[in-house]
Amino acid sequence: MSDVRNVIIIGSGPAGYTAAVYAARADLNPLVFEGSVTAGGALMNTTEVENFPGFPDGILGPELMDNFRKQAERFGAELVADDVVEVDLTRTPKVVKTATETHLAQTVIVATGSGYRELGLPNEKRLSGRGVSWCATCDGFFFRDQDIVVVGGGDTAMEEATFLSRFARTVTVVHRRSELRASKIMQDRAFANEKIRFLWDSVVTDVQGENRVTGVTVRNVKTGEQTELAVGGMFVAIGHDPRSDLFKGQLTLDDEGYIKVEGQTTRTNLDGVFAAGDVVDHTYRQAITAAGTGCSAAIDAERWLADHP
Ligand code: FAD
Repeated sequence: MSDVRNVIIIGSGPAGYTAAVYAARADLNPLVFEGSVTAGGALMNTTEVENFPGFPDGILGPELMDNFRKQAERFGAELVADDVVEVDLTRTPKVVKTATETHLAQTVIVATGSGYRELGLPNEKRLSGRGVSWCATCDGFFFRDQDIVVVGGGDTAMEEATFLSRFARTVTVVHRRSELRASKIMQDRAFANEKIRFLWDSVVTDVQGENRVTGVTVRNVKTGEQTELAVGGMFVAIGHDPRSDLFKGQLTLDDEGYIKVEGQTTRTNLDGVFAAGDVVDHTYRQAITAAGTGCSAAIDAERWLADHP
């Protein structure tokens, strides 16, 4: 059992590291659990990031996250490459456990992010950031005048397809059913778009390409017929899973498992517990917005500590 820390931060993406920079510079000596395999968060899985302000020539995702990390370390954040496996956030002080240690803290910032659902194809991960993407806002710009596919049939898929049609030559939506789950307004918008076409009752079974995506294989689930589509990109839009399982029964989650916060703050239902980044955010899911709420969480924690001497 350790001494009681001012603040423990769980997560090491843009939200967690930004919270760490702010908490460290506020002299709170934060302890950050980065995770054992995926320290650095979602951007570790991508190549070029062109929309993070301050880098006019773009920057590689892993390099950007290394910069975040170094900045947090520079001000004295204590970084531990381990997973938090259990918490009791209802107690005072709060209890945060790894497989081997128990830590106590007056405040906890949850910044565990969310996972993009994958199709589970052998070449999908290998070509991530090389034509396979989970984020049209992030990567749409790279697909100017190309033919691309969007996999999915919900609101996100329609939103991504519509957004991508600004850049792409054609957008083919591959959907495993014969009708969409998306809301009527999103469907109508996609159906009216001349660049968007639909492959119904179909699933992508493989992605081709050495260093960049060159095509996908699509199978019709009713007839079993396989088709090869020559495309430069595949956007997977089949949903996200916020990493909030650890906090179930303690923090209030919404229907989809995102942590609920009060208004524009990062305060959760539990006093002294704050949440930031994609584990909270349904809507924007960007590195800059995650970093922004990470900053807010550190300031909220600092003010909470000032009010609870
Ligand atoms: P994450 O980055 O997901 O980080 C969460 C961290 O918490 C992870 O490291 C995880 O290991 C850790 N963690 C989780 N549970 C635990 C635990 N129990 N114990 C310890 N640690 C834990 N956004 C942009 O703005 N521009 C882009 O170009 C862009 N490109 C993208 C490309 C890809 C392929 C992907 C997947 C996303 C991209 N995004 C981009 C989105 C952006 O990466 C996310 O919005 C952002 O990373 C969210 O930050 P976060 O800190 O909330 O969570």
